[in-house]
Amino acid sequence: MSSIQGKVVVITGASSGIGEATARLLASQGAHVVIGARRLERLEAVASVIRSEGGSVVSHRLDVTELEQVQEIIQLAMSQFGRLDVVVNNAGVMPLSPLAALKIDEWNRMIDVNIRGVLHGIAAGLPIMTEQGFGHVVNIASTAAYTAGPTTAVYSATKYAVRAITGALRQEVGQQHIRVTLVSPGVTESELAENISDEATKQYVVNEYRRQIIPASAIAGAIAYAIAQPDDVDVNELVIGPTAHI
Ligand code: NDP
Repeated sequence: MSSIQGKVVVITGASSGIGEATARLLASQGAHVVIGARRLERLEAVASVIRSEGGSVVSHRLDVTELEQVQEIIQLAMSQFGRLDVVVNNAGVMPLSPLAALKIDEWNRMIDVNIRGVLHGIAAGLPIMTEQGFGHVVNIASTAAYTAGPTTAVYSATKYAVRAITGALRQEVGQQHIRVTLVSPGVTESELAENISDEATKQYVVNEYRRQIIPASAIAGAIAYAIAQPDDVDVNELVIGPTAHI
């Protein structure tokens, strides 16, 4: 049997967008959510909304590029609730630009957050899940994990990497009753495009590419669906986007 009620779910990048929507939805369905991100004020605001709706939540400042901090939030979940059911590796950044712009700091930041951050979530959660004999890793990739185009080279590369890591992990840990799911959103309402520093790219993304957009709650619903399946059912991969997207 499986459902969401009573599950302990750690969510990275829960101060806005998809992570916030996921925390709120799972908490409303009876999960204990442990939420992390760097902007503590925003995180606390999410936590107080969840509490006001009667949900169970613990918030903790988190930078996923630091393994120790990811281990710390997982340990916090264990000390508060005594088990770890799900880690949602959601934190991500998307400062798109053409390669020729040589925004090397931004390339490195995407690699650090989008790839290393996911690996850190796995490194922190997997030993506990293996010991428990159950668990679920949900990694958030993107439709950019399936195709790359102008300005998306590095972002897509990081999301292809998340897809590769997720597929390999699933084959490694299934026998230990650990489920592994890849969730790939298409264009979704969030703050993701706000950190694009290349002006022409930002204009295109905001005015053209993101004209058809789905709410973050749509992705939260997909994550909840995967978590709610029976323990012996692994939702391998979900791709969700706007119906009318170009
Ligand atoms: P948001 O920008 O709204 O949310 C990103 C979250 O990641 C924020 O909570 C941010 O919090 C957190 N974050 C960023 N860097 C770090 C870090 N170093 N450590 C911890 N947390 C961090 O965007 P989305 O909700 O859209 O993004 C969530 C995921 O969905 C990302 O992986 C993104 O790539 C993916 N995605 C989104 C799509 C979309 O159209 N929105 C499409 C495809 C995929 P803080 O700044 O407080 O640390």
